[in-house]
Amino acid sequence: MSHFPSKAELQIGVEAVATESGGLLVLDAVRAKDVPHLLTDALFGDPEALALVGPVTQTMARVANAPKHKPALCVSCPRAVRPGGRFAVAIARAAIDSPTKALGFIVCDRCGRTPGAIRAAAAHGIKGIFPESRMVEPTHTEAGHA
Ligand SMILES: [Zn+2]
Repeated sequence: MSHFPSKAELQIGVEAVATESGGLLVLDAVRAKDVPHLLTDALFGDPEALALVGPVTQTMARVANAPKHKPALCVSCPRAVRPGGRFAVAIARAAIDSPTKALGFIVCDRCGRTPGAIRAAAAHGIKGIFPESRMVEPTHTEAGHA
């Protein structure tokens, strides 16, 4: 993706993801330090990790490729997140067994550093974009991604 999506584009994206489950979303928090584990789990065929890798790398690329005058923004606050800056990625997917779509959101370092805070910040931001969305707790353990 060569540009940062507008709010309208994000709304369409969230709606597409949420439609699969009637608005019920699961959020996964992925911090920079979780990425090596995520890739290792994906290499070993972990389906949860495999589903996250694509959206996570796409979201990272969004930060890296954003034009200087239009940097990527935190989903929860107005702060810009620039390449080299500290941020986490929250992945939203429909709360069903095999969701077909997932959407990545950027959460800045001030809005969330722990998985719980990252998910809360993302939930706050996503509700601002798509008020009909509701979040459920992830059913898998945090161990694979901590
Ligand atoms: Zn923020």
